[in-house]
Amino acid sequence: MHFDFEAHGWHPVGNWIIDNHFGAIILRLTRDGQWRVTFHEDGRLPLDGLRDRIFEYYRKVLPDEGAGAQLDLYSPYSMHQRCVEKMRVGRVLLAGDSAHVTNPTSGFGLTGGIFDACALTEVLGPVAKGEADERLLDAYSAARRKVFLDVSSPISCETKRRTFHLTDAEIYAERERQIEAQKHGLGWGSGSRGYYSVQLETPSLINGRTSAEERLARYGQGPLVWNPEGGFA
Ligand SMILES: Cc1cc2nc3c(=O)[nH]c(=O)nc-3n(C[C@H](O)[C@H](O)[C@H](O)COP(=O)(O)OP(=O)(O)OC[C@H]3O[C@@H](n4cnc5c(N)ncnc54)[C@H](O)[C@@H]3O)c2cc1C
Repeated sequence: MHFDFEAHGWHPVGNWIIDNHFGAIILRLTRDGQWRVTFHEDGRLPLDGLRDRIFEYYRKVLPDEGAGAQLDLYSPYSMHQRCVEKMRVGRVLLAGDSAHVTNPTSGFGLTGGIFDACALTEVLGPVAKGEADERLLDAYSAARRKVFLDVSSPISCETKRRTFHLTDAEIYAERERQIEAQKHGLGWGSGSRGYYSVQLETPSLINGRTSAEERLARYGQGPLVWNPEGGFA
């Protein structure tokens, strides 16, 4: 959707609304001002009337009752937390959402899938060429399931709870915490997201190095740092 959040003093990259009725994650998608507004509603409501309910939400939640909001695209979806028992069975290998799905509140779905791909591509080539033991593929499965079950899924569940299902006292405390975090530059776009994402990585199944250690060893450079204005540097 398009709406001038910045003109109303909202954060230029991402905004969280922590509320049991109107909770939402509002993230900027493009430089020209397209945003994604993800909010929840009662799953028993019919699909008919969804478009009207979206505008009703804008009217109640956005500044200026959402005047001028332009809806580009919308899509309802159900949230899931699931993981397969094995990401490798014989010659069949799974990665990304085919292996595990999580609610999107922490932004760990695609990120986790990319880390799957990094871990898998490193071992698949040598195994396919007969240069490495195929048990590396089972190691891939075990390592990536562990990251999903121990990190991605629990953090995502907690973020979902903190966004949509808090008690009143928790909502108050969470808002205070967010305000403090913003004051100290720890809000969206800061290193906090990068820190979480790093936890989704599996160090090389061959030499045990993380990508940051590999980068340092190969190029003598430290970890990539996210700059909201200019991307990674
Ligand atoms: C609202 C929402 C917000 C999200 N936000 C984030 C976020 O901020 N950060 C994040 O990291 N993740 C986010 N995710 C999750 C992310 O979108 C998914 O984790 C990611 O797209 C999964 O990628 P994938 O390639 O594994 O699967 P998919 O993107 O589902 O790709 C699978 C592809 O395979 C195709 N396909 C299916 N069956 C066949 C077939 N038989 N033959 C050929 N092709 C086939 C499909 O058409 C599709 O193109 C979000 C998800 C949702 C729903």
